[in-house]
Parts: sequence; structure tokens; C-alpha cells
Amino acid sequence: MSTSKKNAQGERLVPCPHCGGDAVFAPSNRYRPFCGERCREMDLGAWASESFRVAAAPPTDDNEPLPH
Ligand SMILES: [Zn+2]
Repeated sequence: MSTSKKNAQGERLVPCPHCGGDAVFAPSNRYRPFCGERCREMDLGAWASESFRVAAAPPTDDNEPLPH
């Protein structure tokens, strides 16, 4: 059962991917689908740090022979 929640302005509310709270899914919320700037920054920050970690430590190929 999916019930779409709406706020007082009749804008659709979706669960914030970061905190699970109500997030306004409408142009009035520039941080959608997040509930606000904090959650968006937190989520993007986690994604960015994950990318940086992966980029900084590329996976090693155990099957590749050593140079000598
Ligand atoms: Zn949130």
C-alpha cells in the first residue's frame, strides 16, 4: 500500500533518502529528494568521500605478474 503524503501546500512528500523524514518533492524544495540542505550535503559528502577513497586506492590485480 503506497500512500502519497502531502504537505499543507499540497506538495508531495517523499521519505528523505538520508534521514527518512518528510521531504517535499516539488520545485520549491531545491534539495529534493532530500528534506533539506543538511541531508543533501551529508549524502553527497559520503558519496564524494567514497569516490575519493576508491580513486586514491585503485584495486590491485593479483594475477598481474610483477615487473621482475
Ligand atoms: Zn533528511
